[in-house]
Amino acid sequence: AKAAGGDTWRVYSQEQTALATDRVRLTARLREAIERDELVLHYQPQIGLDDGRIIGVEALVRWQHPESGLIPPDRFIPVAEDSGLIVGLGERVLQKACHQAREWLDCGVDFGHVAVNISAAQIRRSTVAPQVKVALAESGLPPHCLQAEITESIAMDRRGEAPAFLQAMQELGVRLAMDDFGTGYSSLGYLRDLPFDTLKVDRLFVRPLPESAPDAAIAEAICTLGCRLGLEVLAEGVETPAQADTLRGFGCTSAQGFLYSRPVPAEQLPATLSELAEP
Ligand code: C2E
Ligand code: CA
Ligand code: CA
Ligand code: CA
Repeated sequence: AKAAGGDTWRVYSQEQTALATDRVRLTARLREAIERDELVLHYQPQIGLDDGRIIGVEALVRWQHPESGLIPPDRFIPVAEDSGLIVGLGERVLQKACHQAREWLDCGVDFGHVAVNISAAQIRRSTVAPQVKVALAESGLPPHCLQAEITESIAMDRRGEAPAFLQAMQELGVRLAMDDFGTGYSSLGYLRDLPFDTLKVDRLFVRPLPESAPDAAIAEAICTLGCRLGLEVLAEGVETPAQADTLRGFGCTSAQGFLYSRPVPAEQLPATLSELAEP
């Protein structure tokens, strides 16, 4: 039994080493990718549930790898966060999104606002507020055309860097969305004091609609709370007309999901928005 234990340990340890090596390699390759500008943004429309107007687009990063093709963010954002590469990556994302949005404004593309994801690791390093300021200044994008999305768990942390970040965004006139709402540990009383414009209902509660009664109860409660606080309530991951109808019934104001459009490359967005605007 002892020998078996020893073997098990050795196999495990080899696997761990292999994983660590993979991570080191991925980190090095990601650093190059940022330098070589291999990161691209795709944009997903956000739709008003009452009238179908476009209220915004969310910028979602992908890695255009020369051999492996398009790599989704879940595969490299965690590595970027652990290695500190998120600082440079996040800066590029902000620059790209702001410049692209400025271009759309100049061409008369009515996209509402562009929403950019800001991760906890970016806020912890407190370099991101100055990056937002510079990206706005360099692109000439009006601040109200930019929305910063931060997750509920980081937004609600009163001790860390989040309050200073939120205040900086408010002073700049940048909009704020609380991402993945319903999954963290909210202090609902504190929500009242935060300068958010939008609550994003997490896909977790949207996916089981309309059948699941408990999920419907949670989704409805979030919509009611958000509306009563005067916030835009946006449901993410809406895939079916039944989900959209249910959420509209709950007072949800807007939605984003495959029902309307998948995230599309920047070149494709104007055509996608025109199609969505047609009755
Ligand atoms: P998120 O912010 O919750 O983004 C929404 C994710 O849901 C996106 O995945 C989007 O493609 C996907 N999605 C949208 N509609 C639907 C739908 O109807 N059904 C389903 N099943 N999925 C839908 P994506 O693009 O793979 O992004 C994953 C996560 O990576 C994002 O989750 C966000 O947390 C992170 N991320 C993306 N871009 C950035 C970025 O520029 N910076 C940082 N820090 N994080 C990013
Ligand atoms: Ca998001
Ligand atoms: Ca989300
Ligand atoms: Ca989510």
